[in-house]
Amino acid sequence: MAEECIFCRIARGQLPAEVVYQDEQVVAFKDIRPVAPVHILIIPRKHIPDLTAITPADKELLGHIHLVAVQIARELGLAERGFRLVNNCKEEGGQVVYHLHFHLLGGRQLRILG
Ligand code: IMP
Repeated sequence: MAEECIFCRIARGQLPAEVVYQDEQVVAFKDIRPVAPVHILIIPRKHIPDLTAITPADKELLGHIHLVAVQIARELGLAERGFRLVNNCKEEGGQVVYHLHFHLLGGRQLRILG
């Protein structure tokens, strides 16, 4: 847990967020600057700075995040249409917030990344 990390603070309920799903391991909330009709961030409650910091102990957590992403996508009607699940890792990957998160994007035709 990191005191100053904004996503840790959202996970603890200390900062407002439009939470769409939460359980003992993860929280999912709407991105404050959406780039698609559906733009949800899925984060572990545990503070992991970026994807390179995962360890074998996080295998179940990472699988869980993917299952939660599919569940949310299904609830929002995206399972048939399709969607994107993205992690930006470190500077050249475009990461801005250093608490592991996955962007669930959908609701429009998404273009090739670049
Ligand atoms: P990154 O570039 O992968 O690190 O993405 C960080 C994302 O967090 C961006 O899409 C921001 O719009 C989003 N974001 C930053 N602060 C907040 C917040 O307080 N609530 C919801 N989303 C946020």
